[in-house]
Amino acid sequence: MRTIWILGWAVLWTACQTAPEPLELAAPAESPARPWAIVIHGGAGHFGEESMSLEMQTLYTASLEAALSLGEAQLAAGAPALDVVEAVVRLLEDDSLFNAGRGAVFTAEGTHELDASIADGATRNCGAVTGLSGYGHPISVARATMDSSEHVFFSGNGASEFAKTQGAETAPPEWFHTTKAYDRYVGAADREGDLPVPLEEKRGTVGCVALDRDGHLAAATSTGGMTYKRHGRIGDSPIIGAGTWADDRTCAVSATGWGEYFIRTGVAQDIHSQMLYGGKSLEAACEHTIFDEMGALGGDGGVVAVDAQGHVALVFNSAGMFRAWSHPEGREVAMFGPYQQP
Ligand code: ASP
Repeated sequence: MRTIWILGWAVLWTACQTAPEPLELAAPAESPARPWAIVIHGGAGHFGEESMSLEMQTLYTASLEAALSLGEAQLAAGAPALDVVEAVVRLLEDDSLFNAGRGAVFTAEGTHELDASIADGATRNCGAVTGLSGYGHPISVARATMDSSEHVFFSGNGASEFAKTQGAETAPPEWFHTTKAYDRYVGAADREGDLPVPLEEKRGTVGCVALDRDGHLAAATSTGGMTYKRHGRIGDSPIIGAGTWADDRTCAVSATGWGEYFIRTGVAQDIHSQMLYGGKSLEAACEHTIFDEMGALGGDGGVVAVDAQGHVALVFNSAGMFRAWSHPEGREVAMFGPYQQP
């Protein structure tokens, strides 16, 4: 009996010593990091193919294509994401088709109050201006705020004074007087008191997010705000965390839409936080914020975003969003809905 017992232990001991190692499961394959990626928006709104002439479609496509090509060329050549998003937004600020810089919408007083912000994912530094008048490239004033001041946000006269110290290019009121924005202003003036402003008027803000070859993310957003906005009204575009965000650990985001709702739900930072604390994918985080948070309150609009792996997201709950994306595996320029991930 004692021999059998000893034999049993011996067998068990040997088995333990020679038991094969448990199979190590291969880690799920990470989708390969893309060396660079860019996403651009030119505003969201309730417009469809039927409401835009072929001529206008061609013009918008050409403008988005030009902005995308500029960003692609710079990123492919190794330019920093921060410089690329600024350069792309500057180009769109010069384009009167969009509600930013030159094509900015009119306030209720018939003036232009421009908002812009920029964020650097590498340093988590940022800069913003709101209610800026008389300067053609608010995004560069936002960049100067980040680079050359001890602050991150200037408003109104303070923003103009700071822009002057930086030698930013000034632009006279006539430069901002475009027929498209003026017609909208007259239409809104006729409807005064008849709020809310029709949804289709909320389009044209511009934004760009990018991942560069060094793995850095950046975001930039620029707008004239909303047609017939009251003097001093601030939307989400110049607010870091609402309209713009960049953090190399997660993503870069630029938003467009009904700003009040984007501020109330802290859209851009909400996307980042879901990724950082909840481990969500870029796409899932954007969809949750746009549909279940901002949209659930009654807001409309969308975001463009890119993560540190070069995944892109273009998520909107409006009928359309002017948009373009590119990375070494593909590219697209689009404007109409419904929402569909590339
Ligand atoms: N978000 C901008 C604002 O509320 C407008 C827009 O994106 O169309 O000022």
